[in-house]
Amino acid sequence: MIGVKRLAGVALAALVMAASTAHAQPAAQTPEARTAARFEAAAKDRAQLRLFLRGMPKGGDLHNHLSGAAYAEDFLAWAGESDLCVTKDGLPSIVPGPCDAPGKVPARGLARADTALYNRAINALSMRNYNPGADGAMASGHDQFFATFGRFGAGGDGKLGPMLAVAREYAAGDTVDYVETSVNPTAMGELAWSFKDTPWTDDFAGALAAIKPRLPAMVAQARQEFDAAEADADRRQGCLAQKPRTGPCAVVLGYQGFAVRILPPSVVFAQLASAFALAQGDPRFVGVNIVAPEDHPVSLADYRLHMRMLQYLHAQYPDVKLSLHAGELTLGLVTPRELRFHVREAVETAGAARIGHGVDIAYEDGARDLLARMARDKVAVEINLTSNDVILGVKGADHPLALYRKAGVPFVLSTDDEGVSRIDLTNEYLRAVTEQGLTYADLKAAARASLEYSFLPGASLWASPRTPVAACAKPGPACDAFLAMSRKATAQWRLEREFAAFEAEAK
Ligand SMILES: [Zn+2]
Repeated sequence: MIGVKRLAGVALAALVMAASTAHAQPAAQTPEARTAARFEAAAKDRAQLRLFLRGMPKGGDLHNHLSGAAYAEDFLAWAGESDLCVTKDGLPSIVPGPCDAPGKVPARGLARADTALYNRAINALSMRNYNPGADGAMASGHDQFFATFGRFGAGGDGKLGPMLAVAREYAAGDTVDYVETSVNPTAMGELAWSFKDTPWTDDFAGALAAIKPRLPAMVAQARQEFDAAEADADRRQGCLAQKPRTGPCAVVLGYQGFAVRILPPSVVFAQLASAFALAQGDPRFVGVNIVAPEDHPVSLADYRLHMRMLQYLHAQYPDVKLSLHAGELTLGLVTPRELRFHVREAVETAGAARIGHGVDIAYEDGARDLLARMARDKVAVEINLTSNDVILGVKGADHPLALYRKAGVPFVLSTDDEGVSRIDLTNEYLRAVTEQGLTYADLKAAARASLEYSFLPGASLWASPRTPVAACAKPGPACDAFLAMSRKATAQWRLEREFAAFEAEAK
């Protein structure tokens, strides 16, 4: 643990210094205050603000889907490596070979062989150049967004290592240290799909008993798959020779297994049971999620059932943490009755520790009580400004971020599907400033929250928002030992060290 010790000494000195200078000098003289002033000056100019925010330490990206994080260009390149094809007509998609059939061309070399088709494919596989209403086949950003996954999905088959590598690459470019990304192992998909013809009977215990004997083998296969993929990502990014790791190699990944809420109930239950087993059996899997369009008729019809499934499984695996997509809805997209309870049930029935999106909060019954409960119980909300704009058309003053903040609900800024939306986390910080009026202090608090509310195991570095735990009140073996025991505190220490360096730049 030499690295941790060294890091502890440096960062602790910086923390103690920052704390003492805060008392000894007028506020305007502290590096933090000077940095806030630099932020205010940059905020008048969008390009300057972008430059400032890119370098700003951001901690974690807690709402990230691995397949949605890669860009269309990445999928087309992997499709080429796998000798897959691209369809030529209509909205191009990546499909299996052989490619000499009518209407298909090889993905390999497409960028040079047919640049026009390559560009059309990038548009079809993402939100690039998307113009609602211009294409008769597509009516909304919502439909285009979710349809991209089916068009690029084949490009990611067998490419887990490269996908992990690009997630780390984009995070490092964004000054992000930790990504909590939703991804399922291959073995979990096979296991869950084997229940597709099993009728659902509401017998939770019976359903779990049917799948339980198969879970250990699934977890073992998943471990092998992720061991190999992580080793592949390390090889591709030249990490093995690095001591200590830097850049993309230093980005920490945490995984969330997930269920797809539009599938038959028996499959959803099997996915959830598998996701809980993974979170219990492999420390890289830090939580459980549920994904896919929440406004889909099956998602709506089964919403309460899914929350009861989660409640049941959570009782069997009480240490597993849940981050649940909930309230990714708005007026007009669904009937008013569907807007009234999704966030509440995710919190109260399923016991979610974090809520993904939560856009419909102002439409929910008892919203003020629910907000107060989320604030009291520290149920954080993951805010995805671009995603909410392109999928739901909710942005600016219509977005409930200000409502959450006013209620004291902890929040983090996250990307959702940065490759599909063609954004990065810096862009989301920028929107939080230009559209939501956040200050440097607000963004710094959000960055700290992104590790405080992460599912990284271990105790928090912070006893209160600005005071480290007693073990780390002064440098020494007690703090070294504390950090060595906690992956969360280690990540938080790293973030403080990065803030100290970032704020030292402001003269
Ligand atoms: Zn999402």
